[in-house]
Amino acid sequence: MVTLPKYVSLTAGHAEGIDDLTAFDNALKAAGIADLNLVKVSSIVPQGARLVPLRDFPVGSLVPTVYAQAYSDVPGQTVAAAVVMGLSPDGRGVIMESHGVGTREEMEAIARRRVEAAFQERGLELHEIHAVSAEHTVQKHGCAVAAAVLWGDELEELPDQWLTEAWTPDARFGVRVREEVFSLRSPYQHIQIVDTFQFGRMLWLEGTVQASEADHFVYHEMLVHVPMLLHPGPRRVLIVGGGDGGALATVLQHPVEEVVLVEIDREVVRAAQAYLQSFHHNAFEDPRVKLVYEDAFTYLENRHGPFDVILMDTTDPVGPAMRLFTQDFYGLVKQNLAHAALVSAQSGSPWLQPEVVARNWRAMKPHFEHLALYLASIPTYPGGLWSFTLAGRGVRLEAPLPVLEERFRHLQGKTRYYTPQVHQAAFVLPPFVQALLQEG
Ligand code: SAM
Repeated sequence: MVTLPKYVSLTAGHAEGIDDLTAFDNALKAAGIADLNLVKVSSIVPQGARLVPLRDFPVGSLVPTVYAQAYSDVPGQTVAAAVVMGLSPDGRGVIMESHGVGTREEMEAIARRRVEAAFQERGLELHEIHAVSAEHTVQKHGCAVAAAVLWGDELEELPDQWLTEAWTPDARFGVRVREEVFSLRSPYQHIQIVDTFQFGRMLWLEGTVQASEADHFVYHEMLVHVPMLLHPGPRRVLIVGGGDGGALATVLQHPVEEVVLVEIDREVVRAAQAYLQSFHHNAFEDPRVKLVYEDAFTYLENRHGPFDVILMDTTDPVGPAMRLFTQDFYGLVKQNLAHAALVSAQSGSPWLQPEVVARNWRAMKPHFEHLALYLASIPTYPGGLWSFTLAGRGVRLEAPLPVLEERFRHLQGKTRYYTPQVHQAAFVLPPFVQALLQEG
C-alpha cells in the first residue's frame, strides 16, 4: 500500500562545477539530509500536505523530490532555478518549476504563473504560495543551481509547534507556528520572529505578541493617524519604542519634516530591518527619519523637543517600559511638546488589563488639559479590544468630520482600518470602559 507523504519542505542551492547535480547535492547536505537519493515524482502535492522547516527532516531520510535545475559553462552568464508550490485551503495543490538563463526573480515569476494557471484550470482556490529559488553567475567554467521540494511522511510524530502568551494567570493565547524565522536574547528581551499559519509573520518580545502581519495595520493606523489628523500641521514627530518600524512607516504617510524614533533595543530594529519588511516598507532609510538607541526616559530628560506629536509605541509596562507608564515620564513628555501638540499612547486591554488602562490614565491626567480614550479591535492583543489614550496641549481632541475628511484626502497611500468615520466612532466608549477612567 502506498501512503501519501504529508510533509513538504523547500530548499535551493548553487555551486561552481559543471556537474548539474552538485548544487542540488550541496543543498541537501546543507539541510542535514545525508546523501543524494532523489527520485523525480509527481508534481501534485498530496492532499493535506503541510510545509515544515527543512531541519525537521531526519538526517539520512529518503526523500522523494521534485526539482528544477539549471546549468551553464559560459562565464558571466547567470542561471537560476525556481520551484513554486501552491496549496488550496484543504492542502491540495501543485508544484511547478522553471529554470534557465536569467535571475531567480524571473524564474520564480514564471513558475508562479504556472501554479496560478494550474489552479485556475482545476477550479481550485489558491490559499498559500511558497517559492524557493537560487541563482548563480558562472565565474570560470561551469556552474549549477538547483531548487527542490522534498517531501516525506516520516514526521508523523512531529509535534505541532505552538507559541503561547499568558494573557492572565488563567487565560492564554496560542498560535501554531509554521517556522521560527529569528530568535535572539538581546540585553533587554527575547526577540522572536515567527511565521504562523493564522496571522502570518509575527514579532514577539519576551513571550508577548507585539505585531502580526494580519492585524498590525489596525494598531499602527489608530495609534498614528488619530493624533496626526487631529493636529492642524504636525512637522516634527517622536516615536517612543516602535522598533518594528510599523508606526514609522505610518507617520511617513504624512508630510512631516522629521521623525525621531527612540528605541532602547537596537536588536529589535536590526531584526525588523532583516525580517519585517512588510511592516515598515523600508521606512528606516527615509531621509526624514532619525534613529536614536536610548532609553526614552533619558532621551526626554535631555530635552530634544519641541515635538508636535509624540507617539507612545512601547511594550506593555514590564521590563524597560515600566518607567514609561508613570506620572514622572509624562511630565517629561509634556516638557518636550510644542505649544500646540498631541500625544497618543497604547494603553492596554480594557478586558484583561483594566489596571493598565487606569494607571496610564492616572499618569497622564495631571499633565494635560485634554484627555480622551479610544478603542480599536486587534485580535492578537489580549482580549481583542485595545485602548489608546490621547492627550492634547493647546489642540482640541475632536475635529468636525469634514475637517478630518479634508486632511485624510491628503494622506499618502491607503488605509485598511482608519477612516474619519472610524476615528469618530472609536471615541464612543461602552459604560464598562468609562468606569475604568472614573476609577482612575
Ligand atoms: N505594538 C507593540 C505593542 O504594544 O505590543 C509595541 C511594539 S514596539 C516593538 C515596542 C518597543 O518598545 C520594543 O522594541 C522595546 O524595545 C521598546 N521599548 C521598551 N521600553 C523602552 C524604553 N524605555 N525606551 C525606548 N524604547 C523602549
